[in-house]
Amino acid sequence: MIRTVAVDFDRVVHRYSRGWADGTIYDPPMDGALDGLRTLMEHYSVFIHTSRTPADVADWLAAHELLVATDPSDDLRFWVERGVLLVTNRKLPASVYLDDRAVRFTSWPQALHDLLPDQDRDARRRTIRRALTAAWPDLAGDPTHVDQLAEVALTALEHGDG
Ligand SMILES: [Mg+2]
Repeated sequence: MIRTVAVDFDRVVHRYSRGWADGTIYDPPMDGALDGLRTLMEHYSVFIHTSRTPADVADWLAAHELLVATDPSDDLRFWVERGVLLVTNRKLPASVYLDDRAVRFTSWPQALHDLLPDQDRDARRRTIRRALTAAWPDLAGDPTHVDQLAEVALTALEHGDG
């Protein structure tokens, strides 16, 4: 059951169209962000989790007419008071973390599959390499060429319509 929602700031609430830039909060909100936060806050305790200075983020949110508390001074208020949005740079416990860069964790094998380079593709390329050098042993003396041929063959398979 969801009780607390942690919300990332940049590219979830703040549009962040130019990335970190000079560290200022320069953009308007993401479409739907302010109403979205208000709606979430009707149902859950909500906090903004950001690596920015919490006071800067709190000022920006307050300027957009959200009722904010900053960690740690009003630490506990948002847990119990509906409509108070906490801003913190600590990773407090939450049922859900809403983040534009999150990778969902279910197990280490799944996480490694999602994060590491495409090992299946690398394995297919190695298979093609072996087939090429088996068919044309002279190619073994020019591994760069074999790599290029294997990549061409693999790409053709991936993008071909046959
Ligand atoms: Mg972000």
